[in-house]
Amino acid sequence: MQLSMPQGQTEIRHDWTNEEVQALFDLPFNDLLFQAQLVHRQNFDPNEVQVSTLLSIKTGACPEDCKYCPQSGHYNTGLEKERLMQVEKVLEKARKAKETGSTRFCMGAAWKHPADKDMPYVLEMVKGVKELGLETCMTLGMLDQSKADQLAEAGLDYYNHNLDTSPEFYDKIITTRTFQDRLDTLHHVRESGMKICSGGILGMGETATDRNGLLIQLANMPKQPESVPINMLVKVEGTPLENAEDLDNLDFIRTIAVARIMMPKSHVRLSAGRESMSDEMQAMTFMAGANSIFYGECLLTTPNPETHRDLKLFKRLGINMEQRISESDETQEQAIMNTLQKQQDDQFYYEA
Ligand code: SF4
Repeated sequence: MQLSMPQGQTEIRHDWTNEEVQALFDLPFNDLLFQAQLVHRQNFDPNEVQVSTLLSIKTGACPEDCKYCPQSGHYNTGLEKERLMQVEKVLEKARKAKETGSTRFCMGAAWKHPADKDMPYVLEMVKGVKELGLETCMTLGMLDQSKADQLAEAGLDYYNHNLDTSPEFYDKIITTRTFQDRLDTLHHVRESGMKICSGGILGMGETATDRNGLLIQLANMPKQPESVPINMLVKVEGTPLENAEDLDNLDFIRTIAVARIMMPKSHVRLSAGRESMSDEMQAMTFMAGANSIFYGECLLTTPNPETHRDLKLFKRLGINMEQRISESDETQEQAIMNTLQKQQDDQFYYEA
């Protein structure tokens, strides 16, 4: 039976204030989740989750000093550094991602910004992945207008560049670049016509007001990001945040719900930190409006739940993977069968 739902919010606003956002966070938990569900149902199929695969194409030795990141060259985390991956290897991983049902392939490089000499390889990767029929996403650090234009021309659909946290808390987490640098890159990405994937990380010792500030920055952009990853800090030994205090899980779920209400048409992505979340916690985040995940065994350099755990959870929750318009149910069914078969043949999805 179809329930008739009261009206939720679909209007996209760019004038959120701290008081309004705080009022949402202050709602009783059930009321907040109900509002988020209303907004979610008016803008998306509530039982569909978009699935992306993330691959690290260049790992470690990053000159930036992001305090949460094991890839920063400033900290000793024992991470094995890797040079830029060969184009053919990247395409091989992308083919596997497609076989297992991913619709978007994200490639991440630990750079301050891409060097001119690396651009031809990166552009080849974009073209190759695109030819496989996958949506393409990259995260390569800062971009000037010329590099953003080259990527857009090669067919890059999304550029990921997280704001990480509020402008006020930013220099407690990163000192090698400024919040304005982030906004400048996002401006170049928009100017080049690409879609934006931008979000942040929770549990880094920020205050509730900082969480409001992050969401306000994202929602009040001239055009809201199409994808908004909300990460839970993964505390990696050797990074300055290895002993950060745990964030209350309910506050994480509340943040997802508030993000859903403030950015009604964006995909809110449950991102890093999912590995340590119970199935029940993940189910609550989907209820709060998260409708995108990373899929595959490796989320850059932090562990991600094995693909079959995701498939089982989707099945238990009656969630379908969002398809690209050209693909049918049989394609999805086949992708799931391929994954299950592959897991019997081969214990590991990604060895990276
Ligand atoms: S988050 Fe990105 S920019 Fe920061 S240290 Fe890690 S790889 Fe470098």
